[in-house]
Amino acid sequence: MTAISRDSRNMSTEFFDVAVIGAGAAGICAALQAARTGVRTCLIEKNGIPGGTTTAAGISSLGIFNAWGKQVIAGIGWELVRETLEICGHPLPDFTNPDMSRHWMHEVKIDPVIFAAVVDRALLDAGVEIQYHTMLGDIVLEDDNRRLTLCGKDGLYRIKAKNTIDCTGDANVVKMAGGECRESFPCQPGTFSYYAAGYDPEKLDIEAISAAYAAAVAAGELSNEDTGWGNAFNPHVLFSHGNNSNHISGINAADSAGRTRIEIAGRASVLRLYRFLRRQPGLENLELHFDGCECGVRETRTIVGDTTVTVADYTAGKRYPDAICNAFYPIDLHDEKVGLDKRDLAPGTVPTVPLSALLPHRTRRLLAAGRILSSDRLANSALRVQAVCMATGQAAGALAALSAKSGAPLREVPLAEVRALLKAHGAIVPE
Ligand SMILES: Cc1cc2nc3c(=O)[nH]c(=O)nc-3n(C[C@H](O)[C@H](O)[C@H](O)COP(=O)(O)OP(=O)(O)OC[C@H]3O[C@@H](n4cnc5c(N)ncnc54)[C@H](O)[C@@H]3O)c2cc1C
Repeated sequence: MTAISRDSRNMSTEFFDVAVIGAGAAGICAALQAARTGVRTCLIEKNGIPGGTTTAAGISSLGIFNAWGKQVIAGIGWELVRETLEICGHPLPDFTNPDMSRHWMHEVKIDPVIFAAVVDRALLDAGVEIQYHTMLGDIVLEDDNRRLTLCGKDGLYRIKAKNTIDCTGDANVVKMAGGECRESFPCQPGTFSYYAAGYDPEKLDIEAISAAYAAAVAAGELSNEDTGWGNAFNPHVLFSHGNNSNHISGINAADSAGRTRIEIAGRASVLRLYRFLRRQPGLENLELHFDGCECGVRETRTIVGDTTVTVADYTAGKRYPDAICNAFYPIDLHDEKVGLDKRDLAPGTVPTVPLSALLPHRTRRLLAAGRILSSDRLANSALRVQAVCMATGQAAGALAALSAKSGAPLREVPLAEVRALLKAHGAIVPE
């Protein structure tokens, strides 16, 4: 692995064309696109694995690369997913199926650790200088570059980058740099995902389990959100073998304090339910298998960008003049009071994302991609999905690299050049 050289005593400064902070779905595609364009690129990630929510939180069903019978998102993200599927011998999705009413049937399930290994290899092959177990501590504008203070295991060190891309999922970089952000109060709940095994759902007495669950909630042993919405037991948790079921509400996990609270609350929820279920007849041998080890976070902050994607524009399938990628997913807001606010897109609708939604308003040398792209709350509930994160990451990487190469400010790079570069790297760009 190429490591960024550093000296925690002298704070020696290395120069990069593009620094990507956060190696989630967006960050890996941003870093790969920038490095493959031939500019010096580093990728800074606080975990020891790339993939972010996809791997660390085990949300390994990726949505959605196709819509209404054809592929609408491709590019670097799809290349990584396809390679993972091929290695595992899993079939490629049937993109010719035009029925999007059960959108989850179109999600692509991947093995998270194989995916992460594929990503590591691709990053190294492209020459990305990877630094795991490292967090951004500070970012300032200096001589038309960004100077970043990073915290590694061995202390603080500095790097400089022409352009920096915030792919933290929480807009930590944009916020630290003084950019404007939006936050929802309360945020959508998080979920600690697991796969439940060791039982036959058809042999369970669901009525008896429901009654015992209600009694355990009343006694304070369980939280009413340990199997999802409302007060009642949600049998889906057993029939679907766990997966995406509990809700961890009332915590904004944008910063380390919130993140700490949500991790502890997520594990406590899983432990409560595990103890309870193992006492129920037919579930004595219940086992929980974890794809990831973090609580999945649906919502924290989004940036305020030059353009904000509104729910009206999203559901109308607006073709923005600077559209850079397609998107597809129903509106999917997990509201702790209302329940699931799910609104399907009208047949044939394929929304787009403008490049200007990746540019934090009134900032320089800074971009953002992934679930933090500038969008209102309802639009974001759809845009946050992984294929869109990958496509916006690739677009941000392309713009950052072209700007660094030519020296032009981000907003002065010709759109046609960004689009051409993306197409050359396999992306589907709406015209
Ligand atoms: C419960 C749940 C269910 C979901 N279901 C689906 C689904 O079915 N289909 C779908 O497509 N999507 C789903 N999503 C949404 C999707 O998984 C995420 O929105 C998406 O993966 C976010 O990608 P990202 O790259 O923007 O951010 P993230 O995946 O959050 O990646 C951010 C990365 O940045 C790192 N980081 C953060 N801060 C710093 C810092 N200061 N310094 C260094 N590194 C940092 C993090 O460790 C992480 O690796 C779901 C999400 C949740 C929580």
